[in-house]
Amino acid sequence: MPTQETPPAARVPLDHSHFLREALAMAREGKAAGSAPVGAVMVGPDGTVLARGRNRVGEKQTPEHVGESSVAHAEMDLFFQMGKLKEPETLTLYTSLEPCLMCGGASALLQVGRVVWATADPWGGSGRLIEWSNHPAMQDTEVIACPDPALEREGAALFAPEALKAFPDEGWALWRQKYPEETAAAEGAADSESAK
Ligand SMILES: [Zn+2]
Repeated sequence: MPTQETPPAARVPLDHSHFLREALAMAREGKAAGSAPVGAVMVGPDGTVLARGRNRVGEKQTPEHVGESSVAHAEMDLFFQMGKLKEPETLTLYTSLEPCLMCGGASALLQVGRVVWATADPWGGSGRLIEWSNHPAMQDTEVIACPDPALEREGAALFAPEALKAFPDEGWALWRQKYPEETAAAEGAADSESAK
């Protein structure tokens, strides 16, 4: 039986925690700017950061950055900055939150070699599709979900207030189940906010 070829991005050992921290820093920047707390970093095969992106849904569009649109997600910001990807199979995309269907789909379509995220999104995440999809365009992207438990919790606490706001019903129920502690803190904060 032929052994499966290792994807080029996976041949280089990268410090996942290091780059996930960078993605989380971009997520905090997004929150501070009035957008959603989601960040992304694209890393080349030698460990060079090629681009940094963050959610800009709540901000104006500029010549440099996609914005003022519901699709101004962190990964889209990064893809627009990068233009045409060179040797995408050697690239690793780090995100603070499991990419949505749009961004996960774009990553797979562009044949990004590897996608790594800090925190799962049990409501809107596309990882489960990229991982086992039969879709021929999604076969070359390796997926690494939540490799660092401490950063996974950090990302969950950071995004939980946004999750509560964005999908307060079934989506939030899935978040409550997946991240009970971090979501309890977000509910507590929302309650004390509404009591003011
Ligand atoms: Zn997205």
